[in-house]
Amino acid sequence: MFKLFKTIIKVGTKTTIKYPFEPLDVCDDFRGKPEHDPEQCIACGACTQACPANALIMETDIENNLRRWEISFARCIYCGRCEEVCPTNAITLSQEFELAVTNKADLYEEANFTLAHCVECAEAYAPTKAVSYVHDLLVQSGLDRDDPYLSQLLNTCPSCCRRANMLDSRTLVHGQYFHDALANDSLACDVSADKVFQQERSNQGE
Ligand code: SF4
Ligand code: SF4
Repeated sequence: MFKLFKTIIKVGTKTTIKYPFEPLDVCDDFRGKPEHDPEQCIACGACTQACPANALIMETDIENNLRRWEISFARCIYCGRCEEVCPTNAITLSQEFELAVTNKADLYEEANFTLAHCVECAEAYAPTKAVSYVHDLLVQSGLDRDDPYLSQLLNTCPSCCRRANMLDSRTLVHGQYFHDALANDSLACDVSADKVFQQERSNQGE
């Protein structure tokens, strides 16, 4: 009996919590509802790639020139992968855990971002904010913000960039060889060599 009183005095009378009649404190690293900041988001899509529960999706709507980002709190498993991979800290897990809603639509949140168009072919190729973000990173790393080459490069889609950077076969070493050989008609020796080979095979009765 003495031991029981000793334990009661040590623990106190507050052995249960009064939640939901008073707020419930959670630990500092509690992983609750993901909070998305569209201002900070550059629509890079890294979080949608990393999300193991497919709670995050990103769709491109070419007709309306938009990229749509959406989260479903019904699917989220609060793993925190989105927070880990986000390059701009646009998505963070809060300490909110009371997520019950009466309207199913409230389980979704979305944000829309405009698309940048290629200066060569006019096709939409990336979210405008992602292009600006890369531009800022390159400027921070020492490149000149007003460099026309940098601007041209960032405002050109990957297909047009590849096309523009393709090497002319006549400037390559082996390309130059064939180009010269064709011009001098010296490839004829290869043809005669082929004829000799075929003659040898027929001589051997093959
Ligand atoms: S916390 Fe995990 S499951 Fe939820 S949105 Fe982020 S990555 Fe997806
Ligand atoms: S990773 Fe961050 S910046 Fe990229 S789409 Fe997701 S929330 Fe936006």
